[in-house]
Amino acid sequence: MNAIDSEQCERSIVLAADHVGKLRASDVMRVMEDYFFTYGSTGTIVEYISENRPDLKDEAEACRLELVPAIGKQCDCGTFLAQSEPVCPTCNGGVK
Ligand SMILES: [Zn+2]
Repeated sequence: MNAIDSEQCERSIVLAADHVGKLRASDVMRVMEDYFFTYGSTGTIVEYISENRPDLKDEAEACRLELVPAIGKQCDCGTFLAQSEPVCPTCNGGVK
């Protein structure tokens, strides 16, 4: 993950916590919503939260599924992708 991606993630996270280290599970959805509606995808923020807060990985994945539109695509690996995500963030594979 590059510095710009991290900065964009932190920009959403500061709405709910001082930094990712202080993020609570109950605030993950709010952060993810902000990120999703700003950048149109959830892959990077899920990755960022998972890397920095392994304890919140499941929460982030659950929020991601709620945010992905019903018309979203599903990768062969089982991950749901938003329309705007051409590449699967889990396996980096393309989508049919
Ligand atoms: Zn995949």
